Amino acid sequence: MTIENKDGAPDSNNDINSSSIDAVTENLNNMAVLDDNNDITLCANCGKGEEESNSLKFCSACKLVKYCSAACQKAHRPLHKRQCKQRAAEIFDEKLFKDHPPNEECPICMIPMPEDDMLPPVFILCCGKMICAGCHYGMRKSNMICPFCRIPVCHTSEERVKRLKVLMDRGNAQAFHQLGGYYDQGLHGMPQNRTKARELWVRSGELGCSQAYYNLGVHYQAGMGVERDDKKAKHYYELAAMNGSTYGRYNLGCYDKQSGNFDRAFKHFLIAAKAGYKCLEAVKLGFEAGIVTKDEYANTLRAYQKSSNDMKSDTREVAKACYEE
Ligand SMILES: [Zn+2]
Ligand SMILES: [Zn+2]
Ligand SMILES: [Zn+2]
Ligand SMILES: [Zn+2]
Repeated sequence: MTIENKDGAPDSNNDINSSSIDAVTENLNNMAVLDDNNDITLCANCGKGEEESNSLKFCSACKLVKYCSAACQKAHRPLHKRQCKQRAAEIFDEKLFKDHPPNEECPICMIPMPEDDMLPPVFILCCGKMICAGCHYGMRKSNMICPFCRIPVCHTSEERVKRLKVLMDRGNAQAFHQLGGYYDQGLHGMPQNRTKARELWVRSGELGCSQAYYNLGVHYQAGMGVERDDKKAKHYYELAAMNGSTYGRYNLGCYDKQSGNFDRAFKHFLIAAKAGYKCLEAVKLGFEAGIVTKDEYANTLRAYQKSSNDMKSDTREVAKACYEE
């Protein structure tokens, strides 16, 4: 199919003067509506068809228009910019406000692991797996032998760092996160070096570790070894949230609340609570203020209860009681 204007004439944007910008933007909007099956067959700038150029490419930011060349894309930018930015922001929000997937399962007990300060999963350095605190506690009975590779857990800092480096060579995200933590705190023989810590966390985040992105957010928000920077903090919390960190999402909600963006703030709080983050108090305040509807409130409480129950196990309760002693 070809794209046509309302009056049926073939779309041609060749001779646009600046006074017709609004009209053209409107036409582009129409194009976007017409072509929700991605069947755009004309360059938005010169009107050349697929057959003539056979290399029409989508504007990668908005996927609303196609161009036959980089030159056409550049020439069309002043007309397209506003619509493009708007659609790109919508696409970003669609990703940002997706519900969290269920937490990763412990590879031993197969129960989803909490993202919890009280009961954090433990990283075992021989095979580079995260296991839940309950199963890690249970390893005591077997003299701390890894249930997967039958290697004893290591006791020296040198051995820990050596094992982490082997895992990092294999692209293990969590290993980058852990070594970053050693540099952050000056642990296991590493000098405290927060710049180095952040470098390792960026790599870890790129490999999929949401906690590493969360840590980066904290550094920039609190100015830990770096100048305070709320914009960067938000950026890393967004990446953390999109990779499944409820902590990162909660902090994003707090930023939005501070700036008066209550709609976005409570969207974040609801998603975090549904995934099991302990922020029901914040959700309740939203309900009382009329920002969260009764249905949303009830659904969130139910989902929170389910997520929390799904992450409970007897061994985890035992481990928790021991750590709390
Ligand atoms: Zn063109
Ligand atoms: Zn665009
Ligand atoms: Zn487990
Ligand atoms: Zn192992």
